[in-house]
Amino acid sequence: MALMQASEEILDYEDADDVVVPNGKHDHNLDDHALDYMQEDYVGEASVHTAEFKDLMLKPELLRAIQDAGFKHPSEVQANCIPKAVLGMDLVCQAKSGFGKTAVFVISTLQELDPSDPNQPSVIVLLPTRELAFQTAAQFKRFKKYLPSITLSLFFGGIAYEKDITNIRNRPDLNVIIGTPGRLAALVRDKILKLDHVKHFIIDECDKMLHQEDMRAQIKVIFDATPAKKQVMLFSATLSKKIMPICEEFVQDPYRHLVDDCAKLTLKHIVQYYVKITEAGKLEWLIHILDTLEYNQIIIFVNTVDRAQMLGTHLFENNYPSVMIHSGMEQIERLARYQQFKSFSSRIMVATDLFGRGMDIERVNIVINYDCPFNSDQYLHRIGRGGRFNRKGLAVTLVSDENDCKNLSAVQDRFDIDIAPIPDELDETLWAN
Ligand code: ADP
Repeated sequence: MALMQASEEILDYEDADDVVVPNGKHDHNLDDHALDYMQEDYVGEASVHTAEFKDLMLKPELLRAIQDAGFKHPSEVQANCIPKAVLGMDLVCQAKSGFGKTAVFVISTLQELDPSDPNQPSVIVLLPTRELAFQTAAQFKRFKKYLPSITLSLFFGGIAYEKDITNIRNRPDLNVIIGTPGRLAALVRDKILKLDHVKHFIIDECDKMLHQEDMRAQIKVIFDATPAKKQVMLFSATLSKKIMPICEEFVQDPYRHLVDDCAKLTLKHIVQYYVKITEAGKLEWLIHILDTLEYNQIIIFVNTVDRAQMLGTHLFENNYPSVMIHSGMEQIERLARYQQFKSFSSRIMVATDLFGRGMDIERVNIVINYDCPFNSDQYLHRIGRGGRFNRKGLAVTLVSDENDCKNLSAVQDRFDIDIAPIPDELDETLWAN
């Protein structure tokens, strides 16, 4: 019974209280930036850097895998943070969505990890959703290609807890643990997972994860099970002044790579428009766009599970090559849909904010906010699903009432951008890659 409860503790984004804004107010915790919190720190702007990966003095096996991945130059966040991470410094790292934060912790921990050390696991990575955990495991696999003795395992809710117990008991030599906090906290509490030898503790999307009280409590359980002396690395594209003191509780004398000005978080390579439209007119507009626009892959965001179901079913039944993903689905189904989209078997995804952060699907070049996001963080993360690593993209937000208008103008104010009404004639070269 206790085991069952533990396995159901996982939370998804839709459970997050900062997404729903009942009184129509917006941006209540987001209109400031982390650098105000520590003025003396390094200010990093995310952009593609001209340094070489070989300058980072990495193991030849890693350099080979980086080359195979097609990475030519480290992005600025990578060039700045990988050397600090390899030195063992704690890190609080903010950089634009899609500019390679994942590789910072994957490459640096693989560089430092010694699989022959009998004291394992030495790396733990926490992520807020199962899809992100899955994606991060894939990145570890990608870069450990020539380091075959390094082992990793994934732990998240929605699959049998007993399987995790067997997995851990059969493999005491696991080097890297990746998972969502609910399941990992349960494994720690039940004394199945021992973390006494962890040397690197990583929280991705840390603002989201630490902001949410129940998730923070789960993270604390895991954190407290690790040794006091370890490296802690925290990552997000959005770090508000409010979340920084909480982040600081986890790190010691960290290197901070922060963005000093919200305008610098703007994804300039993504063309951004809005459409003023009634709720009743949305579907017809969307169908017209799907029928007339050229795109590689497209994500359509809605605000609730019900709306995802309604729109996803409609598109599927009308023969659009679409999938949907939301927290109301079985875990196995969710991962299958994610993989279907990732592998390009489907070109259209209808999603809730479950898919709004961190997900990296290279070919997505159009994002549609079928429902207007409630705040500017949500907007930024959603449109950042397109135009990954500086590729071109288009983002269109449908605005149907006064709250939507307010929310969109808050986005424009915060990022100092002008989102124009969609023109009649669209220049598709602006988002063709
Ligand atoms: P973030 O976490 O900052 O949003 P990701 O780590 O998901 O970004 O990286 C976004 C995309 O960019 C991924 O597809 C990744 O493989 C790719 N990428 C990351 N770093 C590089 C690089 N140096 N060169 C080329 N592509 C990169």
